[in-house]
Amino acid sequence: MRLIDVLLPVRCARCGEPPLSPCAHCLAALDEAPMLPVPNGLDSLTALTAYNDRSALFITEAKYRNSRATLGVLMRWAVELTPPAVSLADAVTWAPTTDARRRERGFDQAQILARHAARRLGRPLRSLLRRQPGPTQTGRSRADRLTGPSFRSAGSPCAVVLVDDVCTTGATLTAAATALRHAGAGTIHGLVLARTPQR
Ligand SMILES: [Zn+2]
Repeated sequence: MRLIDVLLPVRCARCGEPPLSPCAHCLAALDEAPMLPVPNGLDSLTALTAYNDRSALFITEAKYRNSRATLGVLMRWAVELTPPAVSLADAVTWAPTTDARRRERGFDQAQILARHAARRLGRPLRSLLRRQPGPTQTGRSRADRLTGPSFRSAGSPCAVVLVDDVCTTGATLTAAATALRHAGAGTIHGLVLARTPQR
């Protein structure tokens, strides 16, 4: 945590009320995640909410203002929705962002979310994936995103929880899961904050 995060009281990104972002009221107002098929390569996918104007405010705030408190609040509730098998996983890992994106922001949002998830679940956090060079997903068309990025893994335990911030087409999670499977994973549970409804 940075000094500025300690000195400035946390206020809800939507309504401005302390002491949490989102506050309990705005958290309860988030829409349920859309009922969509589990992306290829995953055994299950848990999403806290739908990715829309209401939730994007919190997730975008977290992305660009580095509000780690928001990520912790959201991931805490996402973990509550996971199936029981998730709490028995061997490791929690994440789909890493590009090096360029990490340099630009100064952190990897998915990694921070995975750390929160690991702590909540009481399972070890492990860096299992490397992202192959290529364009970032943000700002690409849906058709482009469907092809997804590509990942490599040098080895994976049997049961893994794979964390990311938003599942749009599922292409990123599928690509990450494929790399984990090749590296030895048997069961892969996806865990994201938000899932985009199909248009
Ligand atoms: Zn609020």
